[in-house]
Amino acid sequence: MNAANRKSCGLTVFLSVACFFVWLAPTAFADPPPTRADVTLFGTAYIDLAKVAGQLGMKLNISKNLEEGVLSSRWTRVRFKKDSRLMLLNNYKVYLGYAVAYHRGKLYLSTHDFDKALKPLLTPQVFTSVPRLKTIVIDPGHGGKNPGAINKNLGMIEKDLTLDLAHRLKAVLESRGYRVFLTRNKDQTVENGNRPMIANRYKADLFVCLHFNSVGSRSVKGIETYTFTPQNQPSTARSRLVDEDRKAFPTNRYDPWSTLSSFYVQRQLIKTMGGVDRGIKKARFSMMLDLQCPGFLVEGGFFSHYKEARKIKTINHRIRIAEAIADGIGTYHKTLQRISNPDA
Ligand SMILES: [Zn+2]
Repeated sequence: MNAANRKSCGLTVFLSVACFFVWLAPTAFADPPPTRADVTLFGTAYIDLAKVAGQLGMKLNISKNLEEGVLSSRWTRVRFKKDSRLMLLNNYKVYLGYAVAYHRGKLYLSTHDFDKALKPLLTPQVFTSVPRLKTIVIDPGHGGKNPGAINKNLGMIEKDLTLDLAHRLKAVLESRGYRVFLTRNKDQTVENGNRPMIANRYKADLFVCLHFNSVGSRSVKGIETYTFTPQNQPSTARSRLVDEDRKAFPTNRYDPWSTLSSFYVQRQLIKTMGGVDRGIKKARFSMMLDLQCPGFLVEGGFFSHYKEARKIKTINHRIRIAEAIADGIGTYHKTLQRISNPDA
């Protein structure tokens, strides 16, 4: 967070309005109950977007053709499109579990997304189980016999650069007072399923997985951040619910904080690095399956995109990525402190 932001309004870290914090005072000792549905559409529970606006103390504007709804308040604009899972929060991309639906002249948001995306991002103070943030475990993706993405022309192997980035991030975070551990400190094989166990052993308060992307198309580029998919939602790569989606995993206990921390980090990465915002996405990655803390996974750019890969290869670029992630974590931390101690 830059100094100007900090100065302009202490509550901008909430993304949201100062009045939220006053108007929606923390509830007594229990997280909010699941939102009640107005209607079931395509087998999914939905709430009228106008009601969402009312509950958040925001205004709702719906376009004349009923294709788009915008929730707005002093600091915040949240844009939804009919039949789309993409939500724009102050122009940053967040993928919802379910598409926004049109029904009898109104736009509807799934209750799952209201509870698992909007509330954590706009009114995190309604969640009472506020975690502390002292110990951070960084997980450099791949390693040993698992190289990850490779760019032969540029001589880049993902496992080497995630480890390099992890060490840089560790140094920045330690300089800011955090206890930091890595799931691997050298080029060694670590099974993905063991990675959350390592974080749990260190009693991590936040788990940060670092990766770089690669796809067949050479034109795809940008940065994206994943959180663990909430219960009863399909991951971003799928549009329909399958049986596995109905299961609650240990990591799901920290859904609001994973969502909030990932948003601040992705937003800071885009602010600092520029380039394409590929948004906050959801997946049930095995390296985040049994976490006992919030966590997210950063895909810091594409090895398969020539220009982006060349940038990632430079030390300066990786220093900036590390600083952006640390800055995003810092904003998250300030928010936790403010929720825990609103009168400070
Ligand atoms: Zn990877």
